[in-house]
Amino acid sequence: MHDVWKVYPNGVEALRGIDLKIEQGEFVYIVGPSGSGKSTLIKLMYREEVPTHGVVLINGVNVKRVRDWKIPHVRRKIGVVFQDYKLLPNLTAYENVAFAMEAVEAPRRKIKQRVEEVLELVGLTDRMHALPSQLSGGEQQRVSIARAIVNNPTFVIADEPTGNLDPENSWDIMYLLEEINNRGTTVVMATHNKEIVNTMRQRVIAIEQGVIVRDELGGEYGYED
Ligand code: ADP
Ligand code: ADP
Repeated sequence: MHDVWKVYPNGVEALRGIDLKIEQGEFVYIVGPSGSGKSTLIKLMYREEVPTHGVVLINGVNVKRVRDWKIPHVRRKIGVVFQDYKLLPNLTAYENVAFAMEAVEAPRRKIKQRVEEVLELVGLTDRMHALPSQLSGGEQQRVSIARAIVNNPTFVIADEPTGNLDPENSWDIMYLLEEINNRGTTVVMATHNKEIVNTMRQRVIAIEQGVIVRDELGGEYGYED
């Protein structure tokens, strides 16, 4: 990102002059108080939002110049994980993950093999035919991680992925994200989880009022909440 500003239609300056480079294979935490701009920064990374000013390059592609029909193509290289999972309620765990491959028109033969592989990686082989409503929060988040990685993205973005989980399930999710990162995938995660950030000791970028105030390798959470 080069001098990125995001001003919402109501005049709120959510991001004010962000300069940021994340390299392939990094693990990055985005921290900061509520309303500081973390979600906005993350939304720019998967092109849910475009910058008001400045340049966002994702895998070298300027997201503002990408024509709408090409957005799925850019997003295919990005896996996104949300605090509230965002699974399709009428589809099973298996179908939720398969759907992400169907959306990019993967061949059917490949879909079955790959979906079973990622569900095994997240430890849900036994639960693959359950609906989201039949799964615990931790299990639903593991389905959403399986969905995020099924197309072999170059990076995974997570917005408060442990926000609705107890500590044990939160750590399970972190070990999965660590494993995904160890396989070479870049991981960017916005979080309020002090214990996780202080234990994992990765790059930490702190945002306050839309400005980066700290960017440290092996950093700490740095806030009291
Ligand atoms: P955080 O994720 O750190 O809580 P956000 O990026 O959600 O911060 O919000 C940053 C600021 O932008 C806040 O003042 C918030 O109210 C505002 N904001 C976020 N999304 C919108 C939106 N869609 N329209 C208007 N203002 C928004
Ligand atoms: P978080 O702190 O996790 O970002 P928020 O409660 O700030 O969550 O925001 C929830 C959603 O509402 C986000 O998608 C955000 O963009 C949107 N939002 C936040 N503030 C505003 C606002 N003032 N106007 C419109 N949408 C907003």
